[in-house]
Amino acid sequence: AKIRIGLLFGGRSGEHEVSINSAQAIAQALQTGENDHKYDVIPVYIQKNGVWIAGETADEVLESKTPLSPEDTNPYQLWQFPPELQEVEVWFPVLHGPNGEDGTIQGLLTLMQVPFVGSGVLGSAVGMDKIAMKMAFAQAGLPQVKYKAVERSQIWSNPCIFPKLCDDIEAGLGYPCFVKPANLGSSVGIAKARSHSELEAALDSAASYDRRIVIEAGVTARELECAVLGNDNPKASVVGEITFDSDFYDYETKYTEGRSQIHIPASLPEKVIKQIQEMAIQAFKTVDASGLARVDFFYVEETQAIYLNEINTLPGFTKFSMYPQLWQATGISFEQLVDKLIQLALEK
Ligand code: ATP
Ligand code: MG
Ligand code: MG
Ligand code: MG
Repeated sequence: AKIRIGLLFGGRSGEHEVSINSAQAIAQALQTGENDHKYDVIPVYIQKNGVWIAGETADEVLESKTPLSPEDTNPYQLWQFPPELQEVEVWFPVLHGPNGEDGTIQGLLTLMQVPFVGSGVLGSAVGMDKIAMKMAFAQAGLPQVKYKAVERSQIWSNPCIFPKLCDDIEAGLGYPCFVKPANLGSSVGIAKARSHSELEAALDSAASYDRRIVIEAGVTARELECAVLGNDNPKASVVGEITFDSDFYDYETKYTEGRSQIHIPASLPEKVIKQIQEMAIQAFKTVDASGLARVDFFYVEETQAIYLNEINTLPGFTKFSMYPQLWQATGISFEQLVDKLIQLALEK
């Protein structure tokens, strides 16, 4: 009998649309060739307001790649899951960012006692929160840029502390620095600050996205990414590079066609490739990831310094996304990759 795969997509996150695109590519791959004989796909769409939808409406969203507005349909309350959910044998969460990549859904699926693709609660949560992630990486001795963690309350509720806070950041990190909400992705809410006034504005803006904020020293570097696949004995892919024409790899650059280019494999000394692959696997193990992750790096050519930027435990998964393309170049096709991920979920 075919294995019924619950494809969970959409989600309460700024990366809702990206998730629909990824899910469509995965659904297609599960219905192609060998996979079509092994798997049945049950699409389950999480609306922007958090309501779960299965059946025809979910199929339509997946096919048209058009999100439903919350008013369109509201057949189930969040706590009344669609009946199709009972039939799912393996879950495939294709959700990016908060409420999906961060351990919340993984906790729910763990309680349901149904295997699922990707990291569990711990790996997802530590991988999502940039402050927790950086602390874990630092403890593991992995090289990172200098950073400082602050809380919203230091920015908003105390006008006496704020100027001093900005002075401290300026003295410790210099300019430019990058201000990031700790729990987002796709560069949402990230700003580059080049002066005291830009820093103040960036902190104020980041605080509207998250309680937890991280500020990093800016580096001028090449941006490299490495894909990891596996559970207890994970493997690293070839290394890829991203180039773009803007100041940094912001949301618009990421999702506007033609604004950025992917280069696979990146042209690098063999020694650097080896180091990056080793660091990617170490990063994966450090946060207790499983199944899949994409690990992002900064590489300063002049000094050959490599800085670990971050891990993404549910990376973009469209046909054009870095993660599947890295595996393609390493010898695993998109169809083989989704099959492998389901097998890894069953083995966990
Ligand atoms: P993703 O979509 O990969 O999950 P994200 O939202 O988690 O992204 P980051 O990868 O931390 O965000 O940063 C987004 C981009 O901002 C980087 O790809 C890079 O272009 C720029 N950037 C971030 N931090 C730095 C830094 N310390 N120095 C230089 N550039 C940086
Ligand atoms: Mg990220
Ligand atoms: Mg992300
Ligand atoms: Mg990134």
